[in-house]
Amino acid sequence: MARYRGSLCRLCRAESAKLFLKGDRCYSDKCSFERRSYIPGEHGQIKFRRKASDYGTQLREKQKLKRTFGLLEKSFKAYFEKAEKQKGIAGTNLLLLLERRLDNMVYRLGFANSRGEARQLVKHNHFLVNDKKVNIPSYLVKIGDKIQVKQKSRKVATILDAIETVARRGIPEWLELDKGDFAGVVKVLPTREELTMPIQEQLVVDFYSK
Ligand code: SF4
Repeated sequence: MARYRGSLCRLCRAESAKLFLKGDRCYSDKCSFERRSYIPGEHGQIKFRRKASDYGTQLREKQKLKRTFGLLEKSFKAYFEKAEKQKGIAGTNLLLLLERRLDNMVYRLGFANSRGEARQLVKHNHFLVNDKKVNIPSYLVKIGDKIQVKQKSRKVATILDAIETVARRGIPEWLELDKGDFAGVVKVLPTREELTMPIQEQLVVDFYSK
């Protein structure tokens, strides 16, 4: 599947928000957004942007969420359609579905420095879910699932480096990490309040509901 191959920091600047796409660097003073928070391109430093239309605001919010999880339009829209069919609030359902992706859980547990890195590690067969090999980044985990680094992969430098540096961002309360066992368990699914990413998901719902 085709993926965005350009500068990740440029995406943050385009969305005027930190999307945390580059791992530990995002938490340091090397973050490009901290240094150059203006929109990329020739006119990026112009201070005033024309007030966005409702459509423009909704589009930007949708792009922000889609890019945070590194998804292409087709799969992102499929998550929205699934979320809409579920009981409850479509926007919250959407966030929860994205949160349940295996690559996201690997990132949240601190076995990878970014969701992009987590996606690669999952694809390269470094993880087990409930003791079975799973190499599908979009695999949806559920409450009680155990995600574990395979025995043979416990010396992979990327994983060890991520475990070293995860303290900077911390591990969510709804996950339980056993560092010694290279494993984490999904204790519960997060509430909306526990998902602290700065997203107004209702705008995403409005975007697709036209
Ligand atoms: Fe975004 Fe991270 Fe780059 Fe900062 S370092 S601009 S948060 S991807």
